[in-house]
Amino acid sequence: MRIAFFSTKTYDRNSFDEANRDYGHEIGYFEPRLDAVTATLAAGWPAVCAFVNDRLDASALAALAEGGTRLVALRCAGFNNVDLAAAERLGIAVVRVPAYSPEAVSEFTIGLLLALDRKIHRAWARVRENNFSLDGLLGLGLHGRVAGVVGTGRIGGLVARALRLGFGCEVLASDHVQDPALIAAGIRYVPVEQLLAEADIVTLHCPLTPETHHLVNAASLAAARPGFQLVNTSRGALVDADALIDALKSGRVGGVALDVYEQEGDLFFEDLSNEIIQDDVFQRLLTFPNVLVTGHQAFLTRPALQAIARTTLQSATDFAAGRPLPNRLGTSG
Ligand code: NAD
Repeated sequence: MRIAFFSTKTYDRNSFDEANRDYGHEIGYFEPRLDAVTATLAAGWPAVCAFVNDRLDASALAALAEGGTRLVALRCAGFNNVDLAAAERLGIAVVRVPAYSPEAVSEFTIGLLLALDRKIHRAWARVRENNFSLDGLLGLGLHGRVAGVVGTGRIGGLVARALRLGFGCEVLASDHVQDPALIAAGIRYVPVEQLLAEADIVTLHCPLTPETHHLVNAASLAAARPGFQLVNTSRGALVDADALIDALKSGRVGGVALDVYEQEGDLFFEDLSNEIIQDDVFQRLLTFPNVLVTGHQAFLTRPALQAIARTTLQSATDFAAGRPLPNRLGTSG
C-alpha cells in the first residue's frame, strides 16, 4: 500500500524502514503534523499513518477522504485525537496499535516516580556543577506508602504489580474492570474518589474520555492527602493544569511528574530551544522545584518502536488484502 506518514521523526523512519523490508509498502514521510490544512498533502495516498498529536477531527478526515484516503493507521495506542464517528461516516477505517510495549510505559512511569521522589534529576544537575550538597534532596521512599493506580489495564496493571510486589507499597486501584490477578497480589480496588483521597502516590493509566477529562481537578486536589505525589504518563487532559498549579503553590502537592500535558500539541516532539514559549501555564509548571516534566517519551524504547512498526504495517497489508482488521477502532472504541 502507499502510506503517507505525518509528524515523522528520524526514529519513525528508522523503525518503519527496517520493518518494511518484510512488507514492501510504499512509504512517504511528511514532517508536518496532520490537521485539516496539511491533510491535503495526503491527496492520492490511500493510507495515512498518524501519531498522538495529529489532529484527526471531522474536517481533517473529510480532507483525507476527499484525497482518496481510506485507511488511517495510528502508530500509538490512544485514539482520543480521532473523531471516530466522522471517520465511519466518511468510510475511513481507523486502526491503532493497542499494545506495543506496556513494559516501556510502565518502566518509564516507575523511573519518573523514583526520580521525582529521590530528586535524581536535581542531584544530577547539582553534581555537574560540582555541588555535592544533599540539602533539599530528602526523599520519602516508596516502601510502605499508599500508591493509587487509576486504570489497571496493560500499563497500569504492570505499574500496580511493580509497586506492590517490587517496592512493597500498599496499592489501591480504580477501574471499571477488576483484574483478579491484581487482587490476588494484594491490590485493593476502591472507587476513584477514595483512591484520590487516600493515596500518597497517584499514577494515572486510564484513557482520556469525557468521563476521565480533568479527573485530577481542584476538588480532587483539595481532597488529596497533603504532600501527595502525582505521576501522569497517560494523557495530559486527565489533569487540570491550572488547578495543579494552585495546589503546587499552596504546597498541598508534594511532587508531580508529567510525561504528558493537555496542550502538549503545541510543544512536544519539537526542538523549541531557540523559541519563546507562549504557554504560560506550562512555563509556570516548569518553575516548581518539585515538578519533573518529560516530553511524551514513555513509549520510546527500541522494542516498542519495532512492535509499533510491525503492527501498523501488518494492518496496512491486511487492509489491502481485504482481510479483517483486528486493531480496527469502532465508534464505541
Ligand atoms: P488499556 O486499555 O490496556 O488500559 C486502560 C484501562 O483504563 C482499562 O483497564 C480501562 O477499563 C480503564 N479505564 C477506563 N476508564 C476508566 C476510568 N474512568 N477510571 C478508571 N479506569 C478506567 O490501556 P493501556 O495500554 O494500559 O494504556 C493506558 C493509557 O496510556 C492509554 O490510554 C494512553 O493514553 C496512554 N499511553 C501513553 C504513552 C506514553 O508514551 N506516555 C504510551 C502508550 C499509552
